[in-house]
Amino acid sequence: MRYLPIFLDLQTGPVLLVGAGELVRAKLRLLTAAGARIRWYATSGDHDISGLDPADAERIQFAQGDPLTVDLTGVVAIFCAGAGDIGVAMSVRAKSVGLPVNVMDDLEHSTFIFPAIVDRGEVVVAVGTGGASPVVARRVRERIEAMLPARVGDLATFIARFRKSIHGRIPEMALRRRFWERVVDGPIGALVLDGRKDEAEAALNDIADPSAFAGAQASGEIQGHVTLVGAGPGDPDLLTIKALRALQDADVVFYDELVSSEILDRIRRDAARVPVGRRVGKPGIGQHVINRLMIEAAKSGQRAVRLKGGDPFVFGRGGEEIEALRKANVAYSVVPGITAGLGGAAQFEVPLTYRHEALRITFLTAHRAKDAEAVDWSTLTDTRMTVVVYMGMTAAPSVRSGLLAAGRSPQTPVGVFARVTRPDARAAVGTLENLPDLVEKIDGGPAILIIGDVVAHSAPWRDQNLNQIISKILEAAA
Ligand code: SAH
Repeated sequence: MRYLPIFLDLQTGPVLLVGAGELVRAKLRLLTAAGARIRWYATSGDHDISGLDPADAERIQFAQGDPLTVDLTGVVAIFCAGAGDIGVAMSVRAKSVGLPVNVMDDLEHSTFIFPAIVDRGEVVVAVGTGGASPVVARRVRERIEAMLPARVGDLATFIARFRKSIHGRIPEMALRRRFWERVVDGPIGALVLDGRKDEAEAALNDIADPSAFAGAQASGEIQGHVTLVGAGPGDPDLLTIKALRALQDADVVFYDELVSSEILDRIRRDAARVPVGRRVGKPGIGQHVINRLMIEAAKSGQRAVRLKGGDPFVFGRGGEEIEALRKANVAYSVVPGITAGLGGAAQFEVPLTYRHEALRITFLTAHRAKDAEAVDWSTLTDTRMTVVVYMGMTAAPSVRSGLLAAGRSPQTPVGVFARVTRPDARAAVGTLENLPDLVEKIDGGPAILIIGDVVAHSAPWRDQNLNQIISKILEAAA
């Protein structure tokens, strides 16, 4: 992010507009829409305001004289559009006195730039590309326009009217936030968005006990909650809508090492973030401490999110955590995520099941060689079974020897899929006999191993064109 979006209050003082022509008229429209008082220096000498709303036009002052020498006291910002060299000189002057300045289509001489804007009254969305591509910004804007309810601005205005009185009745900030979330997300919000403001107002006035409405317990304590959220394997677009909402509503997020930074970016900005991850070889803070932190957070009325890579219930200790929460009498819910095995399969086109060819899937973990030795490989020899191994990189030699000893063919197609759905994802495919070599090829984890004939359908396999080689070997063997 090169430019920080901020919203400038143009009603706190006049703005200077320098320039002429159609470009300046576009700026006049925009600035008057924001309620600005404008001192316009027409570089062409002609103050043409045809086409502007007369009420807006009243706020435009036709300034005379030289903008390069005029007194700038109290001026909020300077805008130049179609001003030629005067724009550049104006920029130098503005910078020397520390005033924000924009010279249209001239990044070098601007200290701020204009975003593409979605304008719904009080609700304004600004989209910027750091000046890189106005077309991309416009396309993003179109999408947001399509997504936002038409009356979302009315909803903000509606809430603004009641803010003070609710503030008086719910002094506690976290509870107040929840009150408004219930209003916005519930029937009252729906009424406003439907254009039925009077009914919405009546419903709001009907709330006898705002704290109870917000979810406070009879004791006055707020009810906390823990949501176990599956973050998926890395790509933030693979978060579920529920996961995104939980991240946006959270007061505190306890996250694992495996959760990508792009996903952490989706957390509500003011929420506390607590890393609680373990890494192979390095001890983390310990499961009992994580449990205690979650319980304490919920008991103090916070909405805690326990954010885990992939799915919470696939080698994620989610089961233990909800047990601890249940024992402590803490309310919780679980939001599933896309587990690494499924993310990798989708990305690299490994159909985990295939008609007649792969009828079963086994997900297993082989963290250390010792775990791998404990696996009963004889149950995994069915050629129509796909085996997905988590945490299997270091134990890959034991996975291979276990499966081979149990009788699975050394020619069984296998793949190692690393950092799946992330920008640096990698795959290496081959056969069971050289599984450990494949692990060496992918430059580190996390990675899953997929073992089974279906790997021969995968994209990397097709790329290597091993398909033909294998069928030749099989033909020779037959
Ligand atoms: N709950 C997680 C698994 C946690 S166990 C899930 O459902 O995905 C950690 C193991 O998951 C890693 O050792 C690795 O085998 C696998 N894993 C997690 N994220 C991964 C990723 N982006 N790419 C490949 N494997 C991943």
